Amino acid sequence: MTGEKRIDLHTHTTCSDGIYPPEQLIEKAAFVGLSVISVTDHDTVACLDRAIEHGKRMGLEEVVPGVELSSEENKHEVHILGYYMDYQDPDFLKALRAFREERLNRARKMARILQDLGLDVTFDEILMAAGSSMNIGRPHVAKVLLDKGYVSSTQEAFDKYIAEGRPAYVPKFKISPEEAVELILRAGGVPVYAHPGKTGDPDHVIYLVKYGLMGVEVWHPENSPEIQKVLIEIADRFGLIKTGGTDFHGEGRSKAPLGSIDVPYESYIELKRARSRAKI
Ligand code: AMP
Ligand code: ZN
Ligand code: FE
Ligand code: FE
Repeated sequence: MTGEKRIDLHTHTTCSDGIYPPEQLIEKAAFVGLSVISVTDHDTVACLDRAIEHGKRMGLEEVVPGVELSSEENKHEVHILGYYMDYQDPDFLKALRAFREERLNRARKMARILQDLGLDVTFDEILMAAGSSMNIGRPHVAKVLLDKGYVSSTQEAFDKYIAEGRPAYVPKFKISPEEAVELILRAGGVPVYAHPGKTGDPDHVIYLVKYGLMGVEVWHPENSPEIQKVLIEIADRFGLIKTGGTDFHGEGRSKAPLGSIDVPYESYIELKRARSRAKI
């Protein structure tokens, strides 16, 4: 371990599917010795104010405002990270609110289908299961099915009812990766291709450069060493910022402990510098 300051640019809180509320996540970050952390919840910025405020209280150098947008390309999931967007930008908030509305409508539909199948599952119960998460979805439907004893495991809930092709499956509204990049740019943020070793692929990273993509997540628990090498070459060839993080969701919910991946401090500096070039 060098004396360089440590950073983690990819984490989740209870506002999406992480197990820790923002304050606790920030305390953990301080405890493991991170100087900089970014909170990148899925499709929501609802925990950013709390995280940033608590970062100040805990004396972190910076809590970078972030987001991880879900998008879809040819039926394949692609995640686009955004850093330093103005997360109070009215158009940006409007888009996030629309995603949430879509999720709520979808949960309502799933409840109705399950009821038609003779199962007593209500929309309110699904809402309760979602708790503080803004990303209400199938995991919460599965939880209700499990809690009510209709299935004996989450997996069974998916296999029997809510996996693609099963009777209560309702497809999710998805934006394209190009739209995700544009949304972040319009809010003055820096769009970064998340974990191409997990979802997406290196050629698609190159494709998005002409839409304004500014970075690629090189260091991630699900990017193999081989893919990291390819991504570093691509980043250097196309002038993309190389970023990284643990994608921490909580112990037992993540492939790597918070702060456990070496990400150069320079990544953070470059993101900070790039924000002034971002707005379209
Ligand atoms: P949603 O965004 O509401 O469609 O839910 C997606 C989440 O459901 C994923 O992040 C997985 O955790 C979980 N999931 C999706 N498909 C399956 C499956 N076939 N078996 C178990 N869990 C699944
Ligand atoms: Zn997640
Ligand atoms: Fe992701
Ligand atoms: Fe993530």
